[in-house]
Amino acid sequence: CGIVGFIGREQAAPILLDGLARLEYRGYDSAGVAVYSEKNHALTVRKAKGRLQVLSDLIQGGAAVDGTVGIGHTRWATHGAPSDANSHPQVSQNGKIAVVHNGIIENYVELKQFLISNGVTFTSDTDTEVVAQLIEYFYQGDILEAVGRVLRRIEGAYALGILCADFPDQLIAVRKDSPLILGYGDGCNFLASDVTAIIRHTRKVGYMEDGEVAVLTRDGIQCYNHLMQPIEKKISQVDWEI
Ligand code: GLU
Repeated sequence: CGIVGFIGREQAAPILLDGLARLEYRGYDSAGVAVYSEKNHALTVRKAKGRLQVLSDLIQGGAAVDGTVGIGHTRWATHGAPSDANSHPQVSQNGKIAVVHNGIIENYVELKQFLISNGVTFTSDTDTEVVAQLIEYFYQGDILEAVGRVLRRIEGAYALGILCADFPDQLIAVRKDSPLILGYGDGCNFLASDVTAIIRHTRKVGYMEDGEVAVLTRDGIQCYNHLMQPIEKKISQVDWEI
């Protein structure tokens, strides 16, 4: 339902929680974050059914999750009941790929069956987990290439935020039929389902179009069209009051 992503030099978790709080008006049944820990060289994933406060208490307002790159989500369940396991981020089998998703993957049943028949173990009832597991399945060292292969196979509506432990200096954003915007900061960058989630941090935004992919680093954002060809994104200035 709501997505926020941050890559920068400050702690990510408090920024993600704050962004998610500003998306609360959308309604949701659970919330979660995934942050890359430089100490552990691994993703820290914390998620819980219920109000954002439940997640915030779990991670002490963000203080319990160390790292400067992460993704956050508030979920409005479409596939799989509201539960801790079905909350996002959904994580691939090896724990290295975390995905937050708004929308519906229409062909998830056949993709799930394909992956199960190839030995993949699922831990949720969501359509979203298929995206994380399929990225891992295709991954051969180039995360963007793996995401591109997944995009050619999934059908439906999706805004995705993707974090891979092997590429802790980047976040990947994907949009098709579900809103996603990019925020351009100073030494930091953002993705979000709505400008309100990030406007405290930056008023420079880029509106992703259907089929586009973006790679966010601390120092910039590179966008690609649906053929994975690099494109220039127009940056707009948001001038409304908050
Ligand atoms: N279809 C996904 C799920 O049920 C995402 C729902 C949402 O947009 O929050 O987990």
